[in-house]
Amino acid sequence: MSGTKDIKVLKNGYIVTMNENLEIIEGDILIEDGVITGIGKFETSVSNVVNLNGSIVLPGFIQTHIHLCQTIFRGLADDLELLDWLRRRIWPFEAAHTEESLFKSALLGSMELLSGGTTTILTMETVNHTHVVFEALKETGQRAIVGKCMMDEGDKVPKPLKQGRRKAMNEVEKLYKKYHNSENGRLQLAVAPRFALSCSDKLIEDVRDFCQKNRVIIHSHSSENLKEIESVYEVKGMRNIEYFHKMGLTGDILYLAHCIWVDEDEMNILSETKTRVLHCPGSNLKLGSGIAMIPEMLERGISVSLGADGAPCNNNLDVFMEMRLAGLIQSIRKGPGFLKSEDIVKMATIDAARALRMDDKIGSIELGKKADIVILKRKDLHSFPYSNIYSALVYNFGSRDVTMTMVEGNIVYENGLFPSLNRETIIYECEIELKKLLERARKYEK
Ligand SMILES: [Zn+2]
Repeated sequence: MSGTKDIKVLKNGYIVTMNENLEIIEGDILIEDGVITGIGKFETSVSNVVNLNGSIVLPGFIQTHIHLCQTIFRGLADDLELLDWLRRRIWPFEAAHTEESLFKSALLGSMELLSGGTTTILTMETVNHTHVVFEALKETGQRAIVGKCMMDEGDKVPKPLKQGRRKAMNEVEKLYKKYHNSENGRLQLAVAPRFALSCSDKLIEDVRDFCQKNRVIIHSHSSENLKEIESVYEVKGMRNIEYFHKMGLTGDILYLAHCIWVDEDEMNILSETKTRVLHCPGSNLKLGSGIAMIPEMLERGISVSLGADGAPCNNNLDVFMEMRLAGLIQSIRKGPGFLKSEDIVKMATIDAARALRMDDKIGSIELGKKADIVILKRKDLHSFPYSNIYSALVYNFGSRDVTMTMVEGNIVYENGLFPSLNRETIIYECEIELKKLLERARKYEK
């Protein structure tokens, strides 16, 4: 049956494998039906050969906290703190999303991410129309775990975003049947209770039961902002992570973005229950939220991976920027270079794959893994010279250096172009959708 196989060879790469020994191999990669089946130097008669001329080859980057639905709100919610940012801007905008505007927003976000080398995302979407995000990702070819947002209570939540728990869980069941593990396992469902303040205890229990039974990821936010913590204390009578723990939500299927303001007891809960921490330095700095204690978490063996969060709190979805900021903010707290560049690149590749329990498939360039691969220009005016490749990836390189992105052996981005999507058309269509959305959002803005 070999005649029907799709075989490709990437030739003459500088391969940063991110394997156990952090090996770097100068050579070729053989890809058969989307799987890496050879690494090294070999002669081949295959006709589909891409000559890399020494370009850097990396495993596709993984970002574990994204909101594709917010991409078209970029620049429309600047200079606000978390709760104002949500109530005055983000919730009214999300409430005004239609299937059309959400679809375009998801395309825009996914294309930005692929053009910057991010091949896998854990994304929290909005309350309504989550199915169209799956449809958008079918088109872009990105690997994703898409969270349906859950909100059944809370202060100043616009009506379209408040959804009773029965209706919400019904929708989760439908999405699960239709999309979980679809597209050869490339797309999965997560359930995303937005944060403690937007969810009743009963909703949290329903989410917990469904996700534990089906081993589905629970994706939420926690301990991002001091005022948020105060409000959680008022409503739930305890601190944020304590509350999730009391509700039985903590564990290796719970993924919490931010975790900035956590006390000693909560640190212990995170490490004992193997709850995953999703670190978003760009967003944390822009909203003035604070600096997470990442080195202390790593020391305790807590799983930490990286995400850009949504476009309106960053304002880019660029993994290189997040790696750089992750390093820099700990230099201020702990001293220069305290967080090692190797460890930061791991957080954005193999550690993130491990956090998602996908390290048998992605996160490094190794035999038998899916060919989720990024190619970077070896050197340019802003990146040359360098002596340590990991430090260069964190501090010299940027998304502008990405020349090709591959998911499961398929080229999903190459030199500014996407196989089936046109960037100018998408930007134009997003502009039109945004105009209409802002009209609709007016009635929810206060
Ligand atoms: Zn977020």
